[in-house]
Amino acid sequence: MADMAKQAARFGAAFVSHELTVLEEGPPLKVELGERSVTTRALMLCTGVVNHSPDIDAATHKSALQAGQLRYCPICDGYEVIGKSVAVLGNRPGAIQEALFLKTYTDEVIYVRVEGSPMTEADDNARLKKADIRALPCPMSSIHFEDRVTIQCGDEDVYCDTMYSALGSAPGNRLAQQLGLSLDADSLIRVDEDQRTSTKAVYAAGDIVPGLD
Ligand SMILES: Cc1cc2nc3c(=O)[nH]c(=O)nc-3n(C[C@H](O)[C@H](O)[C@H](O)COP(=O)(O)OP(=O)(O)OC[C@H]3O[C@@H](n4cnc5c(N)ncnc54)[C@H](O)[C@@H]3O)c2cc1C
Repeated sequence: MADMAKQAARFGAAFVSHELTVLEEGPPLKVELGERSVTTRALMLCTGVVNHSPDIDAATHKSALQAGQLRYCPICDGYEVIGKSVAVLGNRPGAIQEALFLKTYTDEVIYVRVEGSPMTEADDNARLKKADIRALPCPMSSIHFEDRVTIQCGDEDVYCDTMYSALGSAPGNRLAQQLGLSLDADSLIRVDEDQRTSTKAVYAAGDIVPGLD
């Protein structure tokens, strides 16, 4: 990050750490950053998403991430689980897709549902079965990160090396909503091939636009 900031500074980028609010739509747009207001020809929103995490405390979450026992993005780090046993924790159709994707890295993939998840339809189970992915019969009741990851499912303890959390994410789209930008079904900002949103002079990129994830 520091290197990238240095590189951007070489092109004249200034860094301001503050929540941004749009005061007047444009172009030019008037935006507020703390005490300061700025007039700008264009605005690029890279407001990201916040991944939903499993129901564990913050310290456990941090140490599991550091140990590579909890992961979020197989596109980013799937190569690190080649040949390992992997569980995918899901509650939505995209999670099934993630389990199928992980099968390209490792043979041992288990699909785990969270409580209240609707992923019980025969069709989803059939897709998992066809790919030789075991779907645990009941939702996960607890998870422990020790030498290995222990998933409790009813009376059964299931072990794996890594769990991918595929519980979706909350888009950081407050500004997009304020500006009335067109959003897709996942509340991500719709953009064209030039990253233009539905509003003039407003662009969006990164996790907040529909992509692979
Ligand atoms: C555990 C984990 C591991 C990952 N590993 C990898 C990896 O190995 N390789 C890889 O390529 N990717 C990885 N990713 C994904 C990567 O982090 C994201 O794709 C990337 O950070 C997206 O960048 P972004 O700028 O779109 O959003 P973010 O990095 O999420 O940044 C958005 C920022 O905008 C801020 N913001 C929102 N609204 C406002 C506002 N109104 N005013 C001011 N600021 C605002 C937010 O606070 C946030 O700081 C990983 C993600 C996670 C969670």
